[in-house]
Amino acid sequence: KRIYRYSTAAALEDPIKPPVSVEYDKLLINGQFVDAASGKTFPTLDPRTGEVIAHVAEGDAEDINRAVAAARKAFDEGPWPRMTAYERSKIMLRFADLVEKHNDEIAALETWDNGKPYEQSANVEIPMFVRIFRYYAGWADKIHGLTIRADGPHHVQTLHEPIGVAGQIIPWNFPLLIFAWKVGPALACGNTIVLKTAEQTPLSALLVSKLFLEAGLPSGVLNVVSGFGPTVGAALCSHMDVDKLAFTGSTETGKVILELSAKSNLKPVTLELGGKSPFIVCEDADVDKAVELAHSALFFNQGQCCCAGSRTFVHEKIYDEFVEKAKARAMKRTVGDPFKSGTEQGPQIDAGQFKKILKYIRYGTESEAKLETGGDKLGTKGYYIQPTVFSNVKDDMLIAKEEIFGPVQSILKFKDLDEVIRRANNTRYGLAAGVFTQNLDTANTLMRALRAGTVWINCFDVFDATIPFGGYKMSGHGREKGEYSLKNYLQVKAVVTALKNPAWL
Ligand code: NAD
Repeated sequence: KRIYRYSTAAALEDPIKPPVSVEYDKLLINGQFVDAASGKTFPTLDPRTGEVIAHVAEGDAEDINRAVAAARKAFDEGPWPRMTAYERSKIMLRFADLVEKHNDEIAALETWDNGKPYEQSANVEIPMFVRIFRYYAGWADKIHGLTIRADGPHHVQTLHEPIGVAGQIIPWNFPLLIFAWKVGPALACGNTIVLKTAEQTPLSALLVSKLFLEAGLPSGVLNVVSGFGPTVGAALCSHMDVDKLAFTGSTETGKVILELSAKSNLKPVTLELGGKSPFIVCEDADVDKAVELAHSALFFNQGQCCCAGSRTFVHEKIYDEFVEKAKARAMKRTVGDPFKSGTEQGPQIDAGQFKKILKYIRYGTESEAKLETGGDKLGTKGYYIQPTVFSNVKDDMLIAKEEIFGPVQSILKFKDLDEVIRRANNTRYGLAAGVFTQNLDTANTLMRALRAGTVWINCFDVFDATIPFGGYKMSGHGREKGEYSLKNYLQVKAVVTALKNPAWL
């Protein structure tokens, strides 16, 4: 008999009323909240029930034209790039203070629209958001070029200039964190922005953007257009007056974004895409700690993480013990209303993802893999899924190859280091990897051999404003966060001046 610690299905029938209301549901263009040019709206849904939270203005190409024109003007005529870096930094710091002040309200809206546990929004994500803006505010007046000693009588310098109007497209799994990763560095460098939120989660970006205006952000510097990918997203990517694109989402859409850039003005593109990250547990690992970490590496955020440790490789010597404990841990996972204290897992984002995950679970049960626990939806309302664990998973199974983006752990067995390196790297993705060992040589070998943008050793999901994040291979181009992200939003201009009678060269 299963002893799930899930909320009972009955408890899920009666969702907790969110302690917040929706005040901003229009497009933000040139400092004003306005209706879409077409007058259209679309519903954003509560993942706990599938019911409508609000009807939000639905942008399309005409709204992108208006937003880009506003961003262009704010860039070309100022004030943003012409303001001193110190002034820009002070506005960003004031914004961070305001977000901190409204932490709980913003967290409630994020949870309502996305379904992630309120405690995660309030205690982890909004504080991280604030930290990222403070970090990039600190960079604003530390961005500068070089003086270069060239051959000959020339004074050579590089100017690190803002790139112009940045188009930014974000997904629904971390609506605010990814907003911060993109908006923070772009503004610190003196750019202006047109941002498109994901159609599943348009609300929190509008609320924080209102606070940005309150903090003194001039009109037109940050424009937010809600709507769908093929309409508003594609119009942004194709626009001739957009100088740069930054995208986070699926690898398939990433290809479309590159194509749209190529077919328009060849604007440079930063891409943060999907993953199928290995989490490697070596024979010397502390099994209990490894189980807990592997569990959170996969199940965090309902499994909706691009860097989820979705291939748990475990050494054969500890495999059976690990599987038993991983199963027990998943069965203890608290699934329930995300507004309820203590909930570890809320609903998946929407019906589409919910069905996709159940389809992958079916692929798993129809294969030779062994279903240890879970394997079904939970309740009758909304998009809840049981924490699911498969053992005996083989590399060529669909659940081991494709991104599931849900609460489904696949545990694979390995014998030696060379083998696990080869298998871990045998994927089109390269976003992240986890290594669990107490042996320094093993850690060092794996750290260099794994083809991934991040390797976490004896930890996972450590996201700090200062640490760059991004992918190898089909997980993307470029890095976000940390100093590396500034490069995405700067042009380098070489200035060469002829010198007459120089005192030195
Ligand atoms: P998605 O690619 O469908 O959507 C992401 C964004 O792109 C949304 O705003 C969407 O409206 C927009 N979009 C869709 N089609 C578009 C088009 N033709 N032109 C322009 N914009 C378009 O992905 P999703 O389903 O929202 O998110 C899940 C995927 O995103 C997963 O594969 C996950 O791995 C990936 N992801 C990656 C990261 C990362 O940092 N690497 C972070 C989060 C999510």
